[in-house]
Amino acid sequence: MSDADTLFERIIAREVPADIVHETETTLAFRDINPQAATHVLVVPKTRYRTVAELAAADPKLLADVIATADKVAELEGLTAGGYRVVFNTGSHAGQTVFHVHAHVLGGEQLGLFGR
Ligand code: 5GP
Repeated sequence: MSDADTLFERIIAREVPADIVHETETTLAFRDINPQAATHVLVVPKTRYRTVAELAAADPKLLADVIATADKVAELEGLTAGGYRVVFNTGSHAGQTVFHVHAHVLGGEQLGLFGR
């Protein structure tokens, strides 16, 4: 990437502390600092792409790894029976603030509907 490292590179490098839930060779999962549900975990690929679209185009296998880790987090956090949501915010209208692609894994309670 040409622009500066994001917060998530610093979490991956263990320069910024995070509550890590699960790690694989290619991905890292850690709790969101400002949870929007009873369980709210972020899953990032260790290689940086800005958005899920960039990741899908450049490395579909790595995108599959991110989804597999999200699924594993759901299992580890006891979300499988009740269900959960996996969200990739993409760009400013969606509220993306960290431009290192990340999946939000949300669950542990009844979630609201999408929208404004
Ligand atoms: P986005 O808005 O880009 O989809 O999601 C970025 C997420 O990163 C937000 O949900 C925000 O709460 C989370 N976040 C921001 N700063 C930190 C931090 O320092 N540590 C952790 N664990 N999460 C953070």
